[in-house]
Amino acid sequence: MPLSASQMVEAVLAGNASPGHFAETACKHLETTGRELGAVLDVNRQRMEERVAALTARLQAGEKPPLAGVPIGIKDNICTLRERTSCGSKILENYCAPYDATVIERLEAAGAIPVGKLNMDEFAMGSSTENSAYGPCRNPWDLQRTPGGSSGGSAAVVAAGCVPVALGSDTGGSIRQPAAFTGTVGLKPTYGRVSRYGLVAFGSSLDQIGPLATNVEDAARIYAAMAGRDERDATSQAAAVEDPLAQLDAGVRGLRIGVPREYMSDAIDARIRARIEQTLQQLAEQGAILVDVTLPHTPYAIPTYYIVATAEASSNLARHDGMHQGVRAPGSTDLLSCYLKNRGQGLGREVQRRILLGTFCLSAGYYDAYYDRAMRVRTLLAQDFETAFVRCDVVLGATTPTLPFRLGEKVADPLQMYLADILTASANLAGIPALVVPAGTIDEAGTALPVGVQLMGPALSEALLLRVGRGVERAAGGPLPVAPHGVRS
Ligand code: GLN
Repeated sequence: MPLSASQMVEAVLAGNASPGHFAETACKHLETTGRELGAVLDVNRQRMEERVAALTARLQAGEKPPLAGVPIGIKDNICTLRERTSCGSKILENYCAPYDATVIERLEAAGAIPVGKLNMDEFAMGSSTENSAYGPCRNPWDLQRTPGGSSGGSAAVVAAGCVPVALGSDTGGSIRQPAAFTGTVGLKPTYGRVSRYGLVAFGSSLDQIGPLATNVEDAARIYAAMAGRDERDATSQAAAVEDPLAQLDAGVRGLRIGVPREYMSDAIDARIRARIEQTLQQLAEQGAILVDVTLPHTPYAIPTYYIVATAEASSNLARHDGMHQGVRAPGSTDLLSCYLKNRGQGLGREVQRRILLGTFCLSAGYYDAYYDRAMRVRTLLAQDFETAFVRCDVVLGATTPTLPFRLGEKVADPLQMYLADILTASANLAGIPALVVPAGTIDEAGTALPVGVQLMGPALSEALLLRVGRGVERAAGGPLPVAPHGVRS
């Protein structure tokens, strides 16, 4: 088992490992295993070396940064100064961000070391990382299968043991579905809990940055280092951040865990349901109280999400004209034809589909029928959760209706692909936090495939979610080992 982020910090602070040891090893693994998986876009050794030098000086001055020496992978829609931030798109192929995202600044202040930029569905639109302009990413549990998306690269390198932690972004499930598909822990924080300054926008009322990790404690540490108000993101919340580590091991005794029947329906693979049932029983044995709840508007989450998200995307993506950051398409005769050619050639099919859908939903005459109605349903989805959280502290259910599917299986059918988000999109629409924790693997024709349990709680309940997540982790007998196609130690 490679070391966890917490163990790496211990080793660095005790002087048992050099400040750059883990970051250097991570770069090596990303260059080999990570690239073989199709998970890596860029490995940034120069920055890594600069940060190691800075950390070394801080340690010599007696500082004890809480993430000292922890290498971290970064989804390629998060800006890192003077490095490429392509969003998995041709249109940003030559975009070097002129600034660091707030999350990068905060993680570095805590001693973490960004080591590379990771593959993703173009502009975070997708559920399989097959929509990247730079090729698909593979699942280290089974190379014929997807690691999920859109943060597939982040999930794959964590599951493969290249890095202990990585950042993803989640607009409708893009941290949690890959976490479930790769046997990693993934946290989508409350809307506004983590600054999005420096995150390339997709759906601005839905987007959140969060960690992927091999275990709940590491996810809590990364979250704690990033969370909190940022003057540069007007949507970031001012409320104090509760320390998730303080109560991580407080157990689940007396906590009321709601089981929403919609997250355990026949539409969900029976093997996943059985595993969730088993987890619930184990939590009950640990002292949790199980209550049945209902989230009746769940079937509307997908249509609502795909109206709100595409509407916002059509506006957000209007700025990408390929003039300054991309490959300028040849053969244009004037400014307009230049824009049209750049966007036509620089943006992939799925992104174009979303822009068309979103523009349509917002257009005069259709606004009321689509966007306005979707916003009303969004309120009903949020109310479902408010009603449920009167009767329970958190809800627990499946993350995905299926086990990781095969590459190519759903690319021809966008609606099938959209349905992969059926259990995750509601948390974004309601703005609440959600955590995925692995609950072992299921054998499918001789291949072990991971299953992820999803927890959701009221706004700002991250610390509670992580505490219950720790209970799930305990019930599962601890974190999963490195995936079979990961780094061999
Ligand atoms: N799979 C969803 C989509 O394609 C969610 C994406 C995300 O969370 N970024 O929009």
